[in-house]
Amino acid sequence: MDFGKFLMCKHCGFISDGPADGKCHKCHFCGYPLEECETQYTQEEWINMEFDERSRVKESIAENVIKNAPEFSEDAMLHRQIQSEKEMAEFIDQAVNRIKNAQPNQVKCPYCGSGSVQKISLVKRVLWSGIFGIASPTIGKEWHCNQCNSDF
Ligand SMILES: [Zn+2]
Ligand SMILES: [Zn+2]
Repeated sequence: MDFGKFLMCKHCGFISDGPADGKCHKCHFCGYPLEECETQYTQEEWINMEFDERSRVKESIAENVIKNAPEFSEDAMLHRQIQSEKEMAEFIDQAVNRIKNAQPNQVKCPYCGSGSVQKISLVKRVLWSGIFGIASPTIGKEWHCNQCNSDF
């Protein structure tokens, strides 16, 4: 039977769910070589495990194994925590920027030139055909002008 595997850094306490592909890995945070370990779960259980439960398992590995290892360094762990928080914040920033840039609100009404336009929602179209039993006249049109009430 195949057991779920993970990689751990005994120096800073980093644990990855990651697949152990047999290559030599170095810790992303401190450069220490990662060690491959087996969980007591089968590979399938480990992969499908809820995030919370997996975090608990990792925590207990950190408490019972890593913190007792002679390689373990409290400083390296602190450094890793600061670093990973910074990376998480950057990741969120980038995601927010991507969303912002994906919807530039520069669409203008071709009839009156107003910038006060809104996207016609799919819900509205479906509702229309549900109530009137006919296809919405806005089909094929994406935007509605709040100024002159035209769709385009
Ligand atoms: Zn490390
Ligand atoms: Zn208009």
